[in-house]
Amino acid sequence: MDKHIEDLLAFLDGSPTSAQAEGQISQRLEASGFKRLNEDASWELKPGGKYYVIRYTSVIAFVAGSEPLTRAGCHIAASHTDSPGLKLKPESVKTEKGITRVAVEVYGGPILATWTDRELGIAGRAATRLGEEMADLKLVDLKRPAAIIPNAAIHLNREVNKGFEYNKQTHLQAILTSAAGGGDPLRAAVAASLERDPEDIRELDLFLYDFAKARIGGLDDSLIFSGRLDNLGMTHAILSAIRSAEAPRLTCVAAFYDHEEIGSRTLQGAESSFLASVLERVGICMGLGREDQLIALDRSFLVSGDMAHAYHPSYPEKYDSSYAPVMNGGPVIKWNAGHKYTTTLESSQTFALNCEAAGVSYQKFAMRSDLLCGSTVGPVLAAQLGLNTVDVGNPLWAMHSARETAGVNDHLDMIKVLSHYYH
Ligand SMILES: [Zn+2]
Repeated sequence: MDKHIEDLLAFLDGSPTSAQAEGQISQRLEASGFKRLNEDASWELKPGGKYYVIRYTSVIAFVAGSEPLTRAGCHIAASHTDSPGLKLKPESVKTEKGITRVAVEVYGGPILATWTDRELGIAGRAATRLGEEMADLKLVDLKRPAAIIPNAAIHLNREVNKGFEYNKQTHLQAILTSAAGGGDPLRAAVAASLERDPEDIRELDLFLYDFAKARIGGLDDSLIFSGRLDNLGMTHAILSAIRSAEAPRLTCVAAFYDHEEIGSRTLQGAESSFLASVLERVGICMGLGREDQLIALDRSFLVSGDMAHAYHPSYPEKYDSSYAPVMNGGPVIKWNAGHKYTTTLESSQTFALNCEAAGVSYQKFAMRSDLLCGSTVGPVLAAQLGLNTVDVGNPLWAMHSARETAGVNDHLDMIKVLSHYYH
């Protein structure tokens, strides 16, 4: 198996939530010689130096280029690390007729039915007690099929195959145990996984995740089956590309954001000050005054990477056939007249020329004109920072399902294009 695909599968399995994804990204950056900088300390940068900054669950990495920022600006790529799913309400654990359940909140816009009758893991973070006056935040992953959301039998719901609306408060409660032992089994399991006492667990921030491992499949092994491909697929492609940037001419930047699926308007989301503040500090370290900073920004470019809708042959009526990218047909440039995707005539050419130079063919997507278009981090960052931006992504089936499907060749091609972009 290609080493990038092997690493993608490990990345997907190691990132059940955006909190773990931040750890997976940081580990890979460290392994490639990136040094961590903190927002609350001063920075010193060297030409060719590789650095990264973490703000809560978002990460920005950069490699200082040899050309002055005022001449060439930065080459930036951005993606999101969160995926739609079900978030636990940990105080709601209740036992009824011996069955212990926990209620969930819906995070973003998942295809709800895909979360039922599936072995579910539990992961996220816990605040633990550290001495008398301190709390310590720990990553949590119970690493076992810890929960299930069973459907009603078809005999109790004969119309289910004609479409069924799940009630988000009642039908989606996750079953944790069937033999009530008293106490709160969720808190106890988290405590055990952290080798702490249940009383030391102060607060929980947990999600359900599909316990099935990411796999390569199809008779020709051309497909990737996994949860969270939107948008860990593009995150991994951007990450792999920036890791390969050695002494680049241009300053290369990669921004990985949490909270896109809930609108990006958070402390560390794409609408936050995070990227603006990192770019400004890079400029300050390189001795740029305010006007030079603005010149550098104007000369910079952003590739906004988020997965795209692959043509699905069982639903041809959902596509405009002239803008229906095929699986394993190459990276997709996304267009929208309402600028839900930021692509412009200028920015599309930059990406297309990068594809041509890397020897990769590309495709185009636009939504059917009678369907609503999704969006991503591109428009938010373009408007906020004044960046010339293109929206791209790789073809994906069943976006926002608990298990999505992408293409092996598309992933390798996207890494090629982005590696070229970063050199
Ligand atoms: Zn997405």
